[in-house]
Amino acid sequence: MVVLLKQNPDKKQLDGLVQWLEGIKIQVHMSEGLHHTIMGLVGDTSIVDIDLLKALEIVEDVKRIQEPYKNANRKFHPMDTVVNVGNVKVGDGNFTMIAGPCSVESLEQMKLIAKEVKKSGANMLRGGAFKPRTSPYAFQGMREKGIEVMIEARKESGLPIVSEIMDPSQLQFFEDVDLIQVGARNMQNFELLKELGKLRKPILLKRGLANTLQELLMSAEYIMAGGNEQVILCERGIRTFETATRNTLDLSAVPMLHSLTHLPVIVDPSHGTGIAKLVKPLALAAAAVGADGLIIEVHNDPAHAASDGPQSLTPEAFDDLAKAVNNILPFAYKGE
Ligand code: PEP
Ligand code: MN
Repeated sequence: MVVLLKQNPDKKQLDGLVQWLEGIKIQVHMSEGLHHTIMGLVGDTSIVDIDLLKALEIVEDVKRIQEPYKNANRKFHPMDTVVNVGNVKVGDGNFTMIAGPCSVESLEQMKLIAKEVKKSGANMLRGGAFKPRTSPYAFQGMREKGIEVMIEARKESGLPIVSEIMDPSQLQFFEDVDLIQVGARNMQNFELLKELGKLRKPILLKRGLANTLQELLMSAEYIMAGGNEQVILCERGIRTFETATRNTLDLSAVPMLHSLTHLPVIVDPSHGTGIAKLVKPLALAAAAVGADGLIIEVHNDPAHAASDGPQSLTPEAFDDLAKAVNNILPFAYKGE
């Protein structure tokens, strides 16, 4: 529910209103504009009598809004949010290129890939240490050792590091990780999201395999409700009836999310397609529809990668992709 206040509302009446709302367990978010102040009410607003509110002297108008997410909602925060990851800005016209292997395999590998992708213009390094694998017999990741390798690779390359967390018990290993990824399989791990909400650290939240955009935004809301507003969303493909590709990359999600939320939206064409030769065309398309960045899997020897080799680009192919994306960016859709 949104309450538009009259200009220069009486302070005593306003304090009284806020106190009353908080007394019935409604959170009040004030947003001061040039001429008007807007109150965003979060909680069970079904118990609020809209006519009673409208009748108050200090109130201009009251609207029930449909979306159940408030912190992530563009209606309350019209300006794009910029998320700072180390020295890299994500969102509001800053295009981010995250690259690296699916799994961290060794320090030599990470150093080599970091050097290569940085040369091609990547400004963050990805690498999975804790891996959510469909099979319990598949490589589960180097775990905490993998995080140590990422930290070493950052020392040499200077690139901020991105790695996936799967469970709150792993938080202790992520203190020195610049951007914590919540993978598709954990998008609705609500206990994890609540813990991440307590941090003051950027979170990369990937869309679940079978989740709507509203569900993605509600998951972002879980993190933001805890006070952590630094959330980057990622479209990484969803399950459809199509089997020719690993997932169906829903690029309409990018402009749709941009209209629904102020949070940055990046695209993962690697998991979105599962096929290396499709990564470049989908990366170009993602840039064209206005994505705030890309996350791309790059491996020095894709045929022998511990995970996701078939969708991994060689450093040379990544270099070619990065150049092509840069050529597209000046023509990218920027919204109405
Ligand atoms: C990954 O980034 O390696 C990963 C497992 O991604 P997703 O959660 O999108 O499948
Ligand atoms: Mn992967």
